[in-house]
Amino acid sequence: MSNGKDAMTQVNHPLDLPIDLQEALDATVADVSAYQGQGVLPSYLPSLTQVNPRKLGIAVALGDGRTFAAGDADEAFSIQSISNVFSLSLALQQVGGSLWNHVGKEASGSAINSVVQLELEKGKPRNPLINAGAMVVDDQLIGHDSADVAVNELMEFLRERCGDCTVEIDQSVAISESQGGSLNRSLAYYMAAFNNLSHPVEDVVSVYFRQCAIAMTCRQLAKAALYLAFDGTDPLTGDQILLASRARRILALMVTSGHYDNSGDFAFRIGLPGKSGVSGGILAIVPRVGTIAAWSPGLNSAGTSLTGSIMLEKLVERTGWSIFA
Ligand code: GLN
Repeated sequence: MSNGKDAMTQVNHPLDLPIDLQEALDATVADVSAYQGQGVLPSYLPSLTQVNPRKLGIAVALGDGRTFAAGDADEAFSIQSISNVFSLSLALQQVGGSLWNHVGKEASGSAINSVVQLELEKGKPRNPLINAGAMVVDDQLIGHDSADVAVNELMEFLRERCGDCTVEIDQSVAISESQGGSLNRSLAYYMAAFNNLSHPVEDVVSVYFRQCAIAMTCRQLAKAALYLAFDGTDPLTGDQILLASRARRILALMVTSGHYDNSGDFAFRIGLPGKSGVSGGILAIVPRVGTIAAWSPGLNSAGTSLTGSIMLEKLVERTGWSIFA
């Protein structure tokens, strides 16, 4: 097991930042005011069309424990498939490398919920960050327990990571996920048909629908993901949350597959490992520095937040935080 302290000694201390981060976030929100409310809300999930499309928030969590935020960064939204990053962390912790027998590591280049690809590839999803892959991960997470136990574990993990025990599932969103979940059920049945699920489809989708409905703020989300920026180690306590090698692999997947068939564009424009959700949230990781969470509900044609991705682009221009810099 790698030593978390090694990671800590490599921290670029945030105080070394050449800019005032609060000013940078305020300026970033001001920069995108012309885009506020733009993009489309995902009509296949009715609960997400009831959100005010003009919401706009961004938060940064640094390895020294400080957080900075601007706009609606303390308003909760359903994190949708950003949750896939956390369920993947837990599943890797619990079942280890055998997870990769069930799910691949390649970019999908297809929509989040492509059935075609799953059929062609005989029920083994391309990667754990698209819908089908996330459901395979959930199936593994259930393991020998029940769907409810798996959901509770995930909730406890998130609450502990963000240091806020009030994080909950938005039940109305969870119901809406299930009501609008025909396509996700189809994906799950495909995988079951190819013997790639060990639990009944309804159990698996019930975990997936609930994890998509977890309500968090940008600030909570950024804090919860800090271990991914520090080789799997909580930079504040030194606790190892995930093996360093696994944390790095999750970051690699976030670069190649974090935004469905929009991942290349995101890497090109922002240059950080990231994960989008169809609620308009985006989580981005700045290795050895911290994390960024942005939220703006309107989406581009690939399902990534239109204004959220522009905010990240503007912030990275100011901070120089691209991993390719
Ligand atoms: N609940 C959404 C769905 O299953 C999540 C997808 C996403 O955020 N990419 O369609």
